[in-house]
Amino acid sequence: MEQTDIKSLTLEELRREIAEQGEKAFRAEQLYQWMHVKLAERIAGMSNLPKVFREWLEREYEYVTLETVEIQRSKLDGTCKYLFRLPDGHVIESVLMRYRHGNSVCISSQAGCRMGCRFCASTIGGLKRNLRPSEMLEQIYRIQKDSGERVSHVVVMGTGEPLDNYDNLIRFIRLVSHEKGLNISQRNITVSTCGIVPGIRKLAEENLSVTLALSLHAVTQEKRRELMPIANRYELKEVLDACGYYFHKTGRRLTFEYSLAAGVNDTEEDVKGLAALAGPLHAHVNLIPINPVNERDFVQPREKIIANFKKNLEKCGINATLRREMGRDIDGACGQLRRKYLEDSPGVPEDSDIMDSSREHSADSLERGGEDPC
Ligand code: SAH
Repeated sequence: MEQTDIKSLTLEELRREIAEQGEKAFRAEQLYQWMHVKLAERIAGMSNLPKVFREWLEREYEYVTLETVEIQRSKLDGTCKYLFRLPDGHVIESVLMRYRHGNSVCISSQAGCRMGCRFCASTIGGLKRNLRPSEMLEQIYRIQKDSGERVSHVVVMGTGEPLDNYDNLIRFIRLVSHEKGLNISQRNITVSTCGIVPGIRKLAEENLSVTLALSLHAVTQEKRRELMPIANRYELKEVLDACGYYFHKTGRRLTFEYSLAAGVNDTEEDVKGLAALAGPLHAHVNLIPINPVNERDFVQPREKIIANFKKNLEKCGINATLRREMGRDIDGACGQLRRKYLEDSPGVPEDSDIMDSSREHSADSLERGGEDPC
């Protein structure tokens, strides 16, 4: 029988499970604190729980932890890239970024991705599987433990489409922002989506106050369809209506992500189109010079074009930022790390999956001096 993943349970569920076992109610809180505040790596180390109780927990439940395969630390800005192994052998990446306003962790929501965005490396090997709430939490827990510094912000912008893993995402958000857990403010959590309309509308109803970031990348339905297959499913207008609904329902300011590719979406027309879409929704625009990916033709516009794009957008009254490049000095090493890992591990389970091309490509894109993989 499959064991229940105990770290994905809410405190209320944990209380119920423990009450059913006839254990004292306060044990649930103790256990929750070990998992979600003290970030314990093993049940055995939970010293204030009776030994018999710990043994029962070990028999009955799966205690998910991530194995740290490799960490790369930037000497320039303190950015750290983490390679983690999931319990079934898949490998995922997370990034710690240090800002003046606090430490932010970029997490993956899926192993691989099935959205197929033309410029994105994570999608090349397809979707392996959804991550469970515990596996999303653990990326933050291991990083907080390793750095010894509090994580105050979370961006769900790593590999995967969070709204394609909806229920696990919601559970993750509730756990990570729980006052008896890590207690990260929902206002400091950003969920980035390629534009899954029913997911956006549903998220608006959850009574959460997380920031929604839409990966827009093109200002017309035609161009968006060329870049993002999801646009075949949901028209740009529908996506923007859903974003408007999210904004009105939650009061949370939206972010539009716009990856700039030379000759694709970097003209004056695009500036005007973008301003016309972002203005009425009061959306903040995050410009990301595209990271070149192998087997894809996209290249970054010249510096001057990027700077002008931003300036002209601002002239239209739009609040825009250019995503800062973090951890440039460790990018190159990242590719070497993965290759070395694969060469040294011929017997790893499902190694065809682990060696999926998205990993290789993502490493390649980093080597070319791109910014953080998020
Ligand atoms: N699936 C989610 C989140 C993951 S990607 C989404 O689509 O939003 C995080 C952001 O990086 C998205 O805006 C994505 O479109 C962008 N991105 C992916 N590959 C990129 C690349 N090669 N260069 C620049 N931005 C990229």
